[in-house]
Amino acid sequence: MTESMLQYSDVEQAAARLAGAAHRTPVLTSATADARTGARLFFKCENYQRMGAFKFRGAFNAIARFTDAQRAAGVLTFSSGNHAQAIALSARLAGIRATIIMPNDAPALKVQATKEYGGEVIFYDRYTENREEIANRLAAERGMTLIPPYDHPDVICGQGTAARELFEDVGPLDILLVPLGGGGLLAGSALAASGLSPDCKVIGVEPEAGNDGQQSLRKGEIVHIGVPKTIADGAMVTHVGEHNFEVIRRRVDDIVTVTDAQLVETMKFFAERMKMVVEPTGCLGAAAALCGVVPVAGKRVGVLISGGNVDLSRFGELVA
Ligand SMILES: *Cc1c(COP(=O)(O)O)cnc(C)c1O
Repeated sequence: MTESMLQYSDVEQAAARLAGAAHRTPVLTSATADARTGARLFFKCENYQRMGAFKFRGAFNAIARFTDAQRAAGVLTFSSGNHAQAIALSARLAGIRATIIMPNDAPALKVQATKEYGGEVIFYDRYTENREEIANRLAAERGMTLIPPYDHPDVICGQGTAARELFEDVGPLDILLVPLGGGGLLAGSALAASGLSPDCKVIGVEPEAGNDGQQSLRKGEIVHIGVPKTIADGAMVTHVGEHNFEVIRRRVDDIVTVTDAQLVETMKFFAERMKMVVEPTGCLGAAAALCGVVPVAGKRVGVLISGGNVDLSRFGELVA
């Protein structure tokens, strides 16, 4: 499968593989959020997905397509957190081995959960070492299949099933706001929109400290930056993926940025008003609507809440 062939039907096939394995997460609304923005907001709550983030969808979909030979050797990946847990859990469900290469400063909760799901964790230094190099070497040595966190067709199509469910549940939308790191969720969501709500504007939202996606969309080619310093640990990537950009450049309307302060404000809003714990990265899309970054008044707006995995002590520090 090549990237240019990715289309809505691939997301449908992923949805069939995920049926019965992934939760169909709730879509919540908030009268307060609607009053504040003048929009009708629909929050797709992937913080309630298995292992606490949408990443279960892509990981499970990718592993579900393994051949017997691939299953026998196991799966390997690199991740700063949620994809690690997603691969570890999906591998356990499939009954295969998983090795995960994680930065040594990954949130403790995410490291612990990955180990609890039975994944073997190998640490590296994200500021001095190249994780893809380490991953490729280990994969070759062990014969394991590398499933990267975003730059993979099966991962993209799995992630797209969240937006697919949202459109199925609430119908066509005017705008869809999607957190953006490496672009798995954004590319998959754009494919879902192309099939179910073709007039919907799909907008990626990334941290201001790491606007490589925005630069890439404007330039028409993938722009690389240094590791961004942001509280959005799930979006600390240096560039979007190639398979991802191929979809993003064709199907995404805009990419905007929000500040860490806006993410904190949004975390507080979710905790106080909607009684929800959302991790900083999970707030990217919502912050764009709630903090006025994207004009949404009068529109029907989908907001992907991508995850809820944050250490409670860290959560306390941030919202204090
Ligand atoms: C991985 C992740 C993102 C970014 O997803 P990409 O597919 O890399 O763009 C956003 N939010 C959360 C909670 C994540 O774990």
